[in-house]
Amino acid sequence: MADEKVFVLAELDEGGGLSKLTLELMGLGARLASETGGELDAVLLGEDVGASAAELATLGASLVSAADHPSLGKYNPDPYLEVLVRLLEPQDAFTLLAGHTPMGQDLAPRLAFALEAGLVTDCVAVEPGQQAGGPVFVKPVFGGNALASNVIKTPRRLATVRARVGSAPESAASGGEFVALEAPTAEPPIRSLGRTTEDRGVKLEDCRVVVAGGRGMGGAEGFGALEELAGLLGGAVGASRPPCDSGWIPASAQVGITGTIVAPDIYFAVAISGSSQHLSGMSESGKIIAINQDPEAYIFKVSDYGAVGDWKQVLPALTEALKHHIS
Ligand SMILES: Cc1cc2nc3c(=O)[nH]c(=O)nc-3n(C[C@H](O)[C@H](O)[C@H](O)COP(=O)(O)OP(=O)(O)OC[C@H]3O[C@@H](n4cnc5c(N)ncnc54)[C@H](O)[C@@H]3O)c2cc1C
Repeated sequence: MADEKVFVLAELDEGGGLSKLTLELMGLGARLASETGGELDAVLLGEDVGASAAELATLGASLVSAADHPSLGKYNPDPYLEVLVRLLEPQDAFTLLAGHTPMGQDLAPRLAFALEAGLVTDCVAVEPGQQAGGPVFVKPVFGGNALASNVIKTPRRLATVRARVGSAPESAASGGEFVALEAPTAEPPIRSLGRTTEDRGVKLEDCRVVVAGGRGMGGAEGFGALEELAGLLGGAVGASRPPCDSGWIPASAQVGITGTIVAPDIYFAVAISGSSQHLSGMSESGKIIAINQDPEAYIFKVSDYGAVGDWKQVLPALTEALKHHIS
């Protein structure tokens, strides 16, 4: 795999700038490329992407390939696929890193099929793995209870990578070159009629502290106490699925296999039992602190620290103690 290209598929955030995950992928891609003697290239599709393409060139990309067209303004699988296949088909061997985002999860399997490439989704680590014959893609399996290390045997390799796996590179002076990709030609069979976003002001996956509550919070009021602790620590409130299903907190707060996948430095699991579906979304957190009244709750098996007790007593005491410590 020496000298092979590493591509990063860039994504824009709601504000139109490069997403935080894209910056992390550029750091990860640069490390992979430097350890194999290959070149790091970035690919960006969208509308009015000139400034973001220029930024990619300052983040270590030797070549920034950008397609700028109204039909690419919002993710739409067919035009995105058309542009990417045209770019990547001439490449016999490469590694492409995409974010494990809604777009990455939808696009990567389509791209893998079209290019006959091997794909590992949901990676929590990507190691150069010279001896293994290619990068080693690590992903959680069995509901987050184990990690599987995968090597892709096909010369074209794709991976979707979770947030906070890589770290953003230092910006350097612009050095990369630019290539304008041809706009898609075909009329997309899917047309977007509208878009509804639920803006909670924070992206859970970007937070260093997540304070999550479960069914045992008993109702929406309980989440007020979690907000106080999260606010104190500069974090955000998350939840297991039942509070979201019950409408105690918006669905965007759900952590888990069908929610957001997070890996903060500190994850508080308050009145959460620790189902495999929940653990899938937070088991890679730096430190897990559980509060549960049931000493047998499974969450304690995966926690670094735990308090057995009613959250109504433990949480205010913890918040007060932290207030004194912080002030
Ligand atoms: C296909 C599928 C996908 C799913 N996806 C997800 C997902 O993405 N995320 C997710 O979270 N779940 C998901 N689930 C649901 C999952 O299976 C569990 O039902 C859910 O995670 C349980 O949530 P919980 O831990 O909050 O509730 P419970 O399992 O009911 O646990 C509540 C906990 O609160 C404790 N407790 C109660 N009162 C107090 C108190 N006063 N003080 C302290 N502790 C207290 C109890 O001891 C208990 O441990 C999914 C299920 C399916 C089938």
